[in-house]
Amino acid sequence: MSLLRRCHQTQVALQFVELNTPVSIIALETGLSVPMLRRMYIEHTGQRPPRGVLPFSADWFLQWRPNIHASLFANLYVDLMRTKLTAPERLTAAYRHYLSELACFDDSETLLSMARAWTLLRFCRSQILQLTPCHRCQACYISAAYQPSNNFTCGICHTPSHAGYRHRSKQLHT
Ligand SMILES: [Zn+2]
Repeated sequence: MSLLRRCHQTQVALQFVELNTPVSIIALETGLSVPMLRRMYIEHTGQRPPRGVLPFSADWFLQWRPNIHASLFANLYVDLMRTKLTAPERLTAAYRHYLSELACFDDSETLLSMARAWTLLRFCRSQILQLTPCHRCQACYISAAYQPSNNFTCGICHTPSHAGYRHRSKQLHT
């Protein structure tokens, strides 16, 4: 790796560190070594990096609340495809947008960690998941791959009866 490229990749790695990304993902995205990234993490944050990536199931992204978060992130990522950002830069930029969008809502729990966002993109690239337009509202949501859009209804247009339960019960106890 040339010195200039190494400098650039170090800047990209810092973006990932600031978003609490597991070192194994940063290494894959930047080509920098795991020991160097561990040192960078500790120097930059004063803390140990989060543990590696657990094997997430694609089904997690299809559950009602996670699906809203995953779809928000995926749409933000797709919007950035038009820019000249590299794929790792696009990932950190989309994730920052996701966090800032969440900050606008009351129930702003960050369901999608950076590790999950990264895994989501891998599932989409492997054609396990995809963005599908809802036939009612036309907005795009994460669905199983090869989902025909003419009969796909998103979680907002078709809210399951239990969807608001968790939020309501939280309010009752505060
Ligand atoms: Zn819809």
